[in-house]
Amino acid sequence: MHIQAAVTREKGGQFHLETLSLEAPRADEMLIRITAVGICHTDLAMRDQVFPVPQPIVLGHEGAGIVEQVGANVSGFSVGDKVVMSYRACGACPSCAAHAPSYCHAFFPLNFSGARADGSTSLTCDSGPVHSHFFGQSSFASHVVAHYSNVVKVAAEADLAVLAPFGCGIQTGAGAVINALKVGVGENVAIFGTGSVGLSAVMAAKLVGATRIIAVDRNAARLALAQELGATHAVNAGTDNPVEAIQRITGGGVAYAIDTTALIPVLSQALAALAPRGTLGIIGASRPDETLPVPVIDLLTSGKHVRGIVEGDAEPAIFLPKLIELHAQGRFPAEKMMRFYNFSEINEAVHDSESGRCVKAVLRI
Ligand SMILES: [Zn+2]
Ligand SMILES: [Zn+2]
Repeated sequence: MHIQAAVTREKGGQFHLETLSLEAPRADEMLIRITAVGICHTDLAMRDQVFPVPQPIVLGHEGAGIVEQVGANVSGFSVGDKVVMSYRACGACPSCAAHAPSYCHAFFPLNFSGARADGSTSLTCDSGPVHSHFFGQSSFASHVVAHYSNVVKVAAEADLAVLAPFGCGIQTGAGAVINALKVGVGENVAIFGTGSVGLSAVMAAKLVGATRIIAVDRNAARLALAQELGATHAVNAGTDNPVEAIQRITGGGVAYAIDTTALIPVLSQALAALAPRGTLGIIGASRPDETLPVPVIDLLTSGKHVRGIVEGDAEPAIFLPKLIELHAQGRFPAEKMMRFYNFSEINEAVHDSESGRCVKAVLRI
């Protein structure tokens, strides 16, 4: 069938809206008509070739839509179901067997190779193949074929435009607090960077009953939004030293710090702001060649932990329904950070995301 898709053809370039051919779904896949897709920082990093994803490719990995066709070996889904999509995992490696699919041993090939596990793509243009299956979906498109394992069914009355970003950015921030760090009632947490991932962490910290939720950023408007969403304190890193401010607010440091910025000086501040035995969760992706200098004696004598967290340690089929129900109850108001655009406005939406004009851009398709 013919579909509309936004194709990435050159490093750092525009998204080109084109008509492509999409294969029919295979036995373990579904055809999904996309109605909304969030724009995630990772899409833009891949456009810029931070990791060398092959081009031309259709990016997009926060897709939501309606099932139009179900492969012969897929159960649990019907035509007409509303669904959101998340990341791919193999289901068979030691991490997948341990219910930690975001550390799947095949995570990179399955999500970043621009093809199915067997190397095939589902998309072609007039001049040849176009890479597909980015995060198992490639959802900057009117339709996708997706493996059943990265599709999660949602309620018939769900607003898919609001739920689309739950599959990556929102799950990443909220899951870091809830699943990975297991922040508890009465604990203190500092969140560095108040983009959509950081704000999702703020909302989750409020949900779990953290006492002091300290948002750190240089953008005053985003800090104000963080406070609206649950931050008890806002530290403007442009005018205040975050380490000193956090020590002052908590009387000795936070039990948990979360970095969404992947900026090495900010990571160092987050580590320094921890109380003894505290944990730094790294959820922002740096360039592959960057390293974090860690003061060994501080790490040793304070018993601090540093750990990476991918996709909020979430098993999407288990975690997304919980988060979506909390959203439906009004206890996780993620829509407050979203701005909606038509599909044809994708380049404008990307520009607004990069300039900071919007926190979370969502395309309606
Ligand atoms: Zn696996
Ligand atoms: Zn993402």
